[in-house]
Amino acid sequence: MSIRYIGLGASDEIGDSAHFLDIEGTSVLLDAGVHPRYEGRESLPDYDRIRDVDLEAILVSHCHLDHLGSLPVALTYFPHARVFMSDAGAALAPVMLGHTVKVMERLKIEAGIEDYPLYTLEDVDAMSYVFQGMRTNRAFPIYSSLQDGTDLQARLYDAGHILGAAGIWLQGSGQTVFYTSDTCVQDQEIIPGAVYPEQVDILICECTLGADENAEHLTRASEISRFARAINEVLERGGTVLIPAFSLGRAQEMLALLCRLRASGKTRDVEIYSAGFGSQISRIYDRTSERSRRHENDIWLAHLDIRRIPPGDVTHGRYLKEPSIVLVSSGMMAENTMSYKLAEKMLPYDHHGIFFVGYCDPRMPGHRVGAAKKGQILQMTEDGRSIPVACTIDRFHFSAHSNRQDLLALIEGVNPRTLLLVHGDRDAADWMESAVKTRNPNVSVVRPERGEEVELA
Ligand SMILES: [Zn+2]
Repeated sequence: MSIRYIGLGASDEIGDSAHFLDIEGTSVLLDAGVHPRYEGRESLPDYDRIRDVDLEAILVSHCHLDHLGSLPVALTYFPHARVFMSDAGAALAPVMLGHTVKVMERLKIEAGIEDYPLYTLEDVDAMSYVFQGMRTNRAFPIYSSLQDGTDLQARLYDAGHILGAAGIWLQGSGQTVFYTSDTCVQDQEIIPGAVYPEQVDILICECTLGADENAEHLTRASEISRFARAINEVLERGGTVLIPAFSLGRAQEMLALLCRLRASGKTRDVEIYSAGFGSQISRIYDRTSERSRRHENDIWLAHLDIRRIPPGDVTHGRYLKEPSIVLVSSGMMAENTMSYKLAEKMLPYDHHGIFFVGYCDPRMPGHRVGAAKKGQILQMTEDGRSIPVACTIDRFHFSAHSNRQDLLALIEGVNPRTLLLVHGDRDAADWMESAVKTRNPNVSVVRPERGEEVELA
């Protein structure tokens, strides 16, 4: 029995997820992401490393770009590989990739990045036909004979996190592998918590929140109450609340929550604004509601009372003159995005508030803003202009990732022989490794680095 792993992308941080597995001679790739912090070909996993491999299948866990964004590039290397994802994932993927083409084309002009676009809309259209949407919780074969003559079996498990997110289970020659990808065991506003398999031999586990001690002590209900109180404080003094949010997942969850809080009188009755690409994603949330796992009190996003901000300059709307709530991308305040421009405008005024509600890479402008204190002079980027900070800045834990205690419970539940810790910064993986070793010294913990090859069996 042999299982070989290569981290083609960022296994040792949050970046371009791309995990290569060779199980008894059958090769599969789990995820095909891009690194959100790098541009052009630098953002890609090292597909050259396996260019001579006869790759049987690419299984995509979900449609955040750090898991999906290089799929069209991977398919130019491996045109015969079959592509599997969840049903809802297959509806989201062409839309996410098409949007990425537009962003790359814009960056080519604005930032002079020669490599862009890495693929075209025509490529996305042509490739989307091979994306196979699979039902969760049903095993399916990846048609390739293992060396013992049987087929490699796969099965997708609901991962919580966002619409269509799946953990990926594989079984071949009597060995089982489970890749959690991004996982959230707690219920969110729209998407219920993750479901996991029973015992597996090899677990590839994310650890995004491994270093976040606070996250394990907070309950969703207490965080929602604190959020509502903080919103009301800003609105009562005549200010506007800016909420930067990812277009896929966080935006829909927050819109549903904000509308519920307003409808139940927990927050003041003001306009809620949103803009941009998130509304296209919301339509897919609605369209797939029958075929994806939801809470019973399902929400139809198109029916929520939300004002759309028209395309163009976002810094002159009514929302900056009268109390309101504005939810726009990017979640990490990437330079020149709507949230970045609005933050620049709002930071110097003490009646406004900027509330962060999701993960932020420590090297992104959103992290600088999130850590800023009143009275400080802030540069949102290395060479950005100096802005005096007067507005209220706060952070709320509505992460779509399991906290570290939940991850430990997951690891104990599936009781792996070998645990690969991926998708976390160094201090997150440090904490997880020592906690796992203390609880169960028999588990072999592997922390693969980018490009590292590991024999797992
Ligand atoms: Zn994700």
